[in-house]
Amino acid sequence: MRVLVTGGAGFIGSHLCDQLLADGHTVVAFDNLVSGKVENLPAGVDLYQESIVDESKVREIMGKFQPDVIAHLAAQKSVSYSVKDPVYDARENIIGSLNLFEVAREMGTKKIVFASTGGALYGETEELPTPEPHQTYPESPYGVAKLAVERYIHYYAKVHGLPASTLRLANVYGPRQDPAGEAGVVAIFCSKLVADQPVTIFGDGEQTRDYVYCKDVASAFVRAIGHSDPVTLNVGTSVETSVNQLADGIGEAAGKAIDKRYEPARAGELFRSSLNWNAARETLGWEPQTHLAKGLSETYSFFADRA
Ligand code: NAD
Repeated sequence: MRVLVTGGAGFIGSHLCDQLLADGHTVVAFDNLVSGKVENLPAGVDLYQESIVDESKVREIMGKFQPDVIAHLAAQKSVSYSVKDPVYDARENIIGSLNLFEVAREMGTKKIVFASTGGALYGETEELPTPEPHQTYPESPYGVAKLAVERYIHYYAKVHGLPASTLRLANVYGPRQDPAGEAGVVAIFCSKLVADQPVTIFGDGEQTRDYVYCKDVASAFVRAIGHSDPVTLNVGTSVETSVNQLADGIGEAAGKAIDKRYEPARAGELFRSSLNWNAARETLGWEPQTHLAKGLSETYSFFADRA
């Protein structure tokens, strides 16, 4: 198949490119490199360096490449930036997505799989791990935009028969994640530890997240691409790990003592989050394969080698 990966030069997108290429597909990345990097792309994947917000470029690239499938991961991914500039966030995350969907509808694209989010959609909840039917209460423009795109996907599937699916991702970690961002705590801690610097923990460090390994997430995309019906599925591990446990785990992976420094909690941060992935197992036969200790060890090695 011919697969267009938007955000293909990014963290998760590049792991998806690796797997699609290994499965024998023809893969191109559509990425403006705002946060992605050319060196993330495996040999054999061409890059169209343009923005999905530019409708004429979307039309031109889709016309040239004629994809069977679009894996849509390009996004403005910062929650705090979305609060600062909701209009920019909506342009990137909603209008950019609509540009793709409209051209896909006209061209009769066979499948779209969209990278949505779990934590930023469900908000603070008593029901943990949270299943897909749980109500969505996004508390940031980023979460609102992801939910809006999910609704458009439902519309395109129902009204236009465009087979489009959504994967709601937990906290993804692994090699190639950008430690410069606000999220990506594993990448941030690994790069601090490589440099023998202390790590900063906001609050008491007992807040939990569901950490899922990037290669497992890529394999969920591959399975969703191969699945005929439109689906909306969580992709996580259902395991809650606190920031303190995570820091200790990275210290163990590195074989170094980790120096934890505590600062006041950040306003608006969720206290607990984890996703129920039973539906992904039942529908796609997908399971998270990578135990946290192994994933942290591979991630630390990546940052240590790069340094
Ligand atoms: P990333 O920043 O590494 O990847 C995003 C990619 O999109 C980058 O390569 C960037 O250059 C590209 N991009 C951004 N705007 C673009 C535009 N207008 N046109 C073309 N390309 C553009 O981030 P990531 O962590 O790999 O995230 C991938 C997707 O997964 C995003 O949609 C994100 O919202 C979603 N997601 C990520 C996580 C996580 O934990 N990393 C969790 C939930 C959802």
